[in-house]
Amino acid sequence: MFTFLVKPSELKQRLIKVIRFYPVIALVVLGLAYLLGAFTKQAHPIISQDAVITMLYIFIAIGPLFVIVGFILIGLASDRERNRASLATGRLAYEDPFSLPSEQMGGYKVVSITGAKPTLTGLTGDIYKADDTARCTNNPDHVPPVAECECECGFYAFKNIKDAKFELSITPGVFLIEVDLFGVGFEYGEGYRAEAQVVRKLITPSRCMRCKTLPVKNFVKRYHLGYFDETWWQWQIRCALCSSTFKDQDRLTVSEMSRELHILIKGR
Ligand SMILES: [Zn+2]
Ligand SMILES: [Zn+2]
Repeated sequence: MFTFLVKPSELKQRLIKVIRFYPVIALVVLGLAYLLGAFTKQAHPIISQDAVITMLYIFIAIGPLFVIVGFILIGLASDRERNRASLATGRLAYEDPFSLPSEQMGGYKVVSITGAKPTLTGLTGDIYKADDTARCTNNPDHVPPVAECECECGFYAFKNIKDAKFELSITPGVFLIEVDLFGVGFEYGEGYRAEAQVVRKLITPSRCMRCKTLPVKNFVKRYHLGYFDETWWQWQIRCALCSSTFKDQDRLTVSEMSRELHILIKGR
């Protein structure tokens, strides 16, 4: 079997970054072809039209194929990594439950703020308070985190802010938070999975979530349309201009939001 020198999650992040540049690369290739005379009717262009067409085929078919194969390989590798990790935690939990690592757990993750009254909502849809204990939706007898639980109960956080920032960059409308984890917990994937969580602070982006240009000023709530036509309230942070059309009851200052959520809110 193949093995990667870099961690699968790291590779996946790199691959996604490359895909973002794909349109740019395509434009550069077309531009070069144009400059080299591939689109002109002259008798002996530096690069022939056939060569350009072949290059385009490579771009349309072979490039994406490599990307798909890349994702499949990375998926397989990260499955194996997860299996190894869960085997390790299984041993930890059952053979010697008293020798759990006592290192301090904490890290970073992303969260959305939803609801008419601002509520922290994880990417999987579960809501939590600034200081909360995990509940298992699968089995009422579970005290999360249960290593082999199907619903993967417990609070998660990345150890490294880099991983959380990457998730932030690919998920629109979410915020970066810094958390401390408590109770029973173990290393999981790129971070920890634990019983209880306290949100230390929410880090706002420096630019407006709408125009992406002006500095942020207010939180505003608006209806978000989801799949299957259901809607929910979602909070964004916007500049003074992009939040000016909102009614007072749909708008909160940073300190008002901080009081609502019981979390320290800071700029980046
Ligand atoms: Zn569970
Ligand atoms: Zn704006």
